[in-house]
Amino acid sequence: MQFKVLARFFEKIERVSSRLAMTDLLAELIAEADSDEIAKVIYLLQGQLGPAFEQIEIGMGEKFVEEAIAKASGYSRGEVHKLFKEKGDLGLVAEQILKKRKQRSLFSAELSVEKVFKNLRRIATVAGTGSQQLKIKLLAELLNSASPLEAKYLVRIPLGHLRLGIGDPTIMDAFALNLLHEAKKNKNLVAEVRKVLKEKKEEKREEEEERKLRARIREMIEDKYNVHSDLGSIAEKLKKSGLAGLNRIKIQPGIPIRPTLAERLPSAKEIIEKLGRCAVESKYDGFRLAVHKDADKVTIFSRKQENVTAMFPEVAEATKKQIKAKQAIFEGEALAFNEQTGEYHPFQVTMQRKRKYDVKKMAEQFPLTLFCFDALYVNGKNLMKLPFKERRKRLHKLIGKGKTIVLTDSIETSDPKKVKKYFEENVEKGLEGIIAKDLNAPYIAGARKFAWIKLKRSYRGELSDSIDTVIIGYFKGRGQRAKFGLGALLTAVYDKKEDSFKSIAKIGTGMSEEQLGKLHKMLSKIKQSKKPVRVESELKPDFWVEPKYVIEVIADEITRSPVHSAGKGQGGAGLALRFPRMVRIRSDRKPDEATSVEEVAAMFKKQRHVKTGA
Ligand code: AMP
Repeated sequence: MQFKVLARFFEKIERVSSRLAMTDLLAELIAEADSDEIAKVIYLLQGQLGPAFEQIEIGMGEKFVEEAIAKASGYSRGEVHKLFKEKGDLGLVAEQILKKRKQRSLFSAELSVEKVFKNLRRIATVAGTGSQQLKIKLLAELLNSASPLEAKYLVRIPLGHLRLGIGDPTIMDAFALNLLHEAKKNKNLVAEVRKVLKEKKEEKREEEEERKLRARIREMIEDKYNVHSDLGSIAEKLKKSGLAGLNRIKIQPGIPIRPTLAERLPSAKEIIEKLGRCAVESKYDGFRLAVHKDADKVTIFSRKQENVTAMFPEVAEATKKQIKAKQAIFEGEALAFNEQTGEYHPFQVTMQRKRKYDVKKMAEQFPLTLFCFDALYVNGKNLMKLPFKERRKRLHKLIGKGKTIVLTDSIETSDPKKVKKYFEENVEKGLEGIIAKDLNAPYIAGARKFAWIKLKRSYRGELSDSIDTVIIGYFKGRGQRAKFGLGALLTAVYDKKEDSFKSIAKIGTGMSEEQLGKLHKMLSKIKQSKKPVRVESELKPDFWVEPKYVIEVIADEITRSPVHSAGKGQGGAGLALRFPRMVRIRSDRKPDEATSVEEVAAMFKKQRHVKTGA
């Protein structure tokens, strides 16, 4: 594919204002790409140069990009810089300058996606002396062959500014649309869908059948994505062999699996009513780590599937020593342990271990203990479909003697009183609460389905649990806060069905001065000129931002509100948080893992029951 074709798609995607139109456009793009280039197309759409977990960062500063633009156009750095000051976007600067370029070297040729991707990867990976000059040269080489439109996007990628606002769910939707034609010819799939339809006695057969087929394919793709977090490689297999290609995707140490998530219930009684006899474990408040062992190679992923191996050397070392299998994937919560007092450090201390510098020193000062709670894969065998009680046995067998890697504390019971007592003991120990587990449930990657239920100690206030919201915009600081550039945040919850973020609260309390400054710095980097496509909010902040950061929020209660979009029915009021306060920035969460609209609606309903005594 020529890069100019992709650039034209980028341009159309940028202009689109509905998610449906975006899906259609993406499906069109998928149809046009070949199987050997589709992975690259998908990564570029996401503004990446590989799967997210590889964390390939180009990290080219504005100064160097300016230089590359100057080199390719014949303009001076000063001229480029001046235009940048006016426009505030080097992409637009490159586009404008190349329209009137003063020079072009003789070696300009049509750019292919392949060539662009190759150069950008090189830019990202060259290191050492002279590497900055080489990066400039490589980018200038691309710009030299680029049209103004191509240049606009070429420049945004290395700056990390290509924000098309496309979520992974939307890409999967587009694939489902793209594969619909094939699915209609697949007898088994059609029979499966017809069976469901027959049971439901639905009308409008044909239309309904098509919709169901599409939903089924979407589900099949997501099932694979959940155990293999690399949409590029999935896309390649789909392009090569259609739906059959999905069978080739297997769990593999080194490729992250999306984490199972916990539901919430307000009491021990309700937990037992839901699960019956279950396992109940201590809920530790640290980082969730997924450890992948493949012979001598250990890779550690965060809850967001970032590769954090370098941050936790003692966990990697202990894995080599303590794990009694050649290959394994297991999960646990890591906490800093205070050897002086025999107690765990508070979350804030553990949090300091998430750093790129002084890793060794901090590992000595605050060593971690990893409390393991699940095993997903051992020596070539996928354990995810086994019932939890069986996985727990395997986990037990997997862990050899040692201090760093241990099992979570756990009991098994069907008595709500015992659950309550265990909860209280855990809270007394300074832990966060408990997490109950369905003994018969498989490991449900990437979803919340009552296989795990958390019960957390309550914060003061009526709403007993905190909510994770996504920042979608912010308001300028006024009065005292003018100096921080930020006074309040506009936040949203996630609507999984629509893959959109719906506003729920404007938050101006709970942040320290230091956090205000930090938030402003983080957010001003991801400002958007208009409301992002996936955001729904009637309240208009001073600045929209790309939905990227998650914060934990507590509030007094959930109320009905005409202002917010979460849970809004046709013509009805939405849901809002009353007296919301920020607790902390949850850097371990992805936006689509924030609290969902359904959860908030359920909490709202529950709260009404409690109030009316129903
Ligand atoms: P929450 O973050 O409040 O939704 O609670 C779920 C999180 O609790 C998981 O993602 C883990 O990081 C953490 N956790 C702590 N202890 C356990 C445990 N025993 N089992 C599972 N998850 C745990």
